[in-house]
Amino acid sequence: MKIYNTLSKQKEEFIPLYDNYVTMYVCGPTVYDYFHIGNARSFIMGDMLRRYLEYKGYKVKYAMNLTDVDDKIINKANDEKTSTDTIAQKYIDVFFDDLAKLKVKPADVYPKATEHMNDMIELVKDLEEKGTAYNVNGNVFYDVSKFKDYGKLSGKKIDELESGSRVEVNDQKRNPLDFALWKKAKDGEPFWESPWGKGRPGWHLECSAMSMKHLGKTIDIHAGGNDLIFPHHENEIAQSEACCTDQFVRYWVHFGFLNFKEEKMSKSLGNFFTAREILKNHSAEAIRLLFAQTHYHAPLNFSKELLEASEKGLEKLNNLIDSIVEIKNSGKLEEDSNKFSFSEFYLEFEQAMDDDLNTPRAVAVIFDFIKHVNKLLTEYPSSKNLIHSIEIFLNKTTDDVLGICNVKENEKNNAASLEPNLIEILIGIRADAKKNKNFELADKIRNDLAEIGIILKDSKDGTTYTRKNI
Ligand code: AMP
Ligand code: ZN
Repeated sequence: MKIYNTLSKQKEEFIPLYDNYVTMYVCGPTVYDYFHIGNARSFIMGDMLRRYLEYKGYKVKYAMNLTDVDDKIINKANDEKTSTDTIAQKYIDVFFDDLAKLKVKPADVYPKATEHMNDMIELVKDLEEKGTAYNVNGNVFYDVSKFKDYGKLSGKKIDELESGSRVEVNDQKRNPLDFALWKKAKDGEPFWESPWGKGRPGWHLECSAMSMKHLGKTIDIHAGGNDLIFPHHENEIAQSEACCTDQFVRYWVHFGFLNFKEEKMSKSLGNFFTAREILKNHSAEAIRLLFAQTHYHAPLNFSKELLEASEKGLEKLNNLIDSIVEIKNSGKLEEDSNKFSFSEFYLEFEQAMDDDLNTPRAVAVIFDFIKHVNKLLTEYPSSKNLIHSIEIFLNKTTDDVLGICNVKENEKNNAASLEPNLIEILIGIRADAKKNKNFELADKIRNDLAEIGIILKDSKDGTTYTRKNI
């Protein structure tokens, strides 16, 4: 598999540090509000990458941080006259809820900044001992001039970065690009004790400390939206590599922006839709299909029309699944000796995904597959092997990797609604049998149903049934 590495600025063969074990860290949310559909793009594309690695047989350990101490959380808590903990917990719950609705597989670990204070303090102490950090009156800064590779991720020289970058202005810094590792507490802010006095960690620090703690000093993949390349990820490299390791991350993966009217969707511009409001009228599958139809590097201009088009596209897949369920329930399936391996479709799907996760091409393969098997189903309407092979293909590709359909769930729902209908049909046949004085048949229906735990109860209003655990 090839993957584009922001560090080398080229597609590279993906080779994890340890055989078939992959460590992956995706920068998570600052939990102060509902997340928007732009954030969702990064979470979903990270999820698709993880799912495809699992498809290929890798065991993935996946971590996503929760930034639960930050200026935005403090401001919101002040506005709502409540504690930062209350705000953070509320939006952590919202985050988990919405992520599950978007069918994003849970991470193996969701480290919180507030639960890793010691790890972060140790890291700053280490940097200070090495002379890479300096303390100005309780604020500790990273000295970028001490890290010769500073700028290697964003591909810029220090002087280019200084002009035109969004770095925090602070006259205590020796160099404008220096960044806060530890911030001295201001009145009314949450704080933790440290060797530099009461304060709280800088945002970049948490990802270095938590990534190394949970995944090891060198990890395979670190991902996030394009906006994180500089300064966030550049600073993570500077902190981790100056302190603890030769190489912090082997593959840096960055997701293109979701734009709205050609501008990056963001809270501060106010041009956003929350994932929650979009999920009210659209399925997670349609959102995921929409994202999969654009390569993760490229910007994607979001519109509700596009989402509706993707909902339409999904119908083709859903119709196929419905036909399969219908055929299976018809009882007409026959054992047969036909073989349907679909190896060319698997191959094309894998070639697309192996080429830097080319999901648009993979989706095209899925639609070709649907066309192909719809034809086959008219040729072989009762082939058990055909149905079985289609289901396996859809399970592995559209469900397990892309998360745009759910064959198993559809089947379960169908089976679940089928049973009560069948019982009602039997109750009807039994009523007719009794009317026709065919008591033998009526009793047989009652007894056979009782044997599988369905107990019929006759009354003047008709027949009802209950279930007995057998
Ligand atoms: P935040 O909570 O702002 O730190 O963002 C969480 C994640 O969403 C990060 O990986 C960001 O890079 C990503 N993100 C933010 N806005 C967008 C956007 N418009 N399109 C894609 N990803 C985004
Ligand atoms: Zn991060």
